[in-house]
Amino acid sequence: MTVREDAIAQAIKKVWTRRSTVSASHFTTVMLAEMNVPCEWTVDDDGYWKTACGEEWSFEEGSPKDNGVNFCFSCGQPVRVMK
Ligand SMILES: [Zn+2]
Repeated sequence: MTVREDAIAQAIKKVWTRRSTVSASHFTTVMLAEMNVPCEWTVDDDGYWKTACGEEWSFEEGSPKDNGVNFCFSCGQPVRVMK
């Protein structure tokens, strides 16, 4: 491995370590997270929270904030609860 390749590998490793909840297939999402764009969560009538990154979560009780959720489980971005 050249010095340059090594530097790139180190840089990539840093990003993945910092965003360890994100899989490699979510690279666009990672870029958004790096830009600190919030993940918008909206709740449906059945109490399921739909996230801007395309996931669904439910809580036994309360809102994400009530459950201490500040960052999206799937993309790692800050959660913004939409009313
Ligand atoms: Zn998300």
